[in-house]
Amino acid sequence: MDMILQGQTALITGSTSGIGLGIARLMAQAGARVVLNGFGKPGEIAAARAEIGALMGAGDAAYSAADMSKPVEIRAMVAEAGAVDILVNNAGIQFVSPVQDFPDDKWDAIIAINMTSNFHAMKAALPGMLARGRGRIINIASAHGLVASPFKSAYVAAKHGVVGMTKSVALEIATTQITCNAICPGFVRTPLAEAQVKPLAEKFGVSEEIALRDHLLEKQPSKRWVEVEDVARMALWLCGPGSGGVNGAALSIDGGWLAA
Ligand code: NAD
Repeated sequence: MDMILQGQTALITGSTSGIGLGIARLMAQAGARVVLNGFGKPGEIAAARAEIGALMGAGDAAYSAADMSKPVEIRAMVAEAGAVDILVNNAGIQFVSPVQDFPDDKWDAIIAINMTSNFHAMKAALPGMLARGRGRIINIASAHGLVASPFKSAYVAAKHGVVGMTKSVALEIATTQITCNAICPGFVRTPLAEAQVKPLAEKFGVSEEIALRDHLLEKQPSKRWVEVEDVARMALWLCGPGSGGVNGAALSIDGGWLAA
């Protein structure tokens, strides 16, 4: 792979698993100094740090245990990361319930982790990017940042908020060499999405295969998962040559979902 990110630091939230870990892999392979963040068992975090470190040709990758629901910890993470050239706001959680039963604490957690954390991280990282005259901000939103599904009121609200915030920040930095974009994936094969298959199979009394095709991927015309590496390639492209004119975009990678 071309070392297009040589000399740059990429801070990726929620990068101990799924999409964030996939982005960390590609950015490390492209020469970035990757700073990891996210939860997990100590062994999983150690494995991620060792894997990403090896891809960078270094020791363990830097890691922040910051909780994305805590602004103080987000600010400390950004400060400790050093000169952040690339910020990927990716950490996220999901909870599914009819709105009348939606637990208040789940609503608050989804809004904080999936949306408000992006604000705090951008606020903390932008001054350094502006001072250095370069930067890339990538907010991992969702197809649910552009359209809704039932029972996901908090997630849909948070992801629409991320898309709106992305556009606003993009306009603020439009004349600089910094860009701010959102990626809007459909269903991607990760622990967060795969965990939704079994409950659907039980709810509808069908096999997990049918639950995946007919229920979870009901709105994804491709009827197959988007792969983590494909989302990571889109994120990497947004940091590479030829991407400077893309700003404030909400880029779909969803097997055709938004075309329907
Ligand atoms: P995942 O569960 O595999 O990974 C989520 C990551 O976020 C993990 O590293 C986890 O430790 C971290 N995290 C959770 N709460 C945190 C907190 N409070 N502080 C710090 N880190 C925290 O999920 P994923 O599917 O890879 O999702 C990553 C992002 O992509 C999320 O924002 C999600 O909404 C979005 N997304 C996922 C899909 C999908 O189908 N998988 C589709 C569209 C958007």
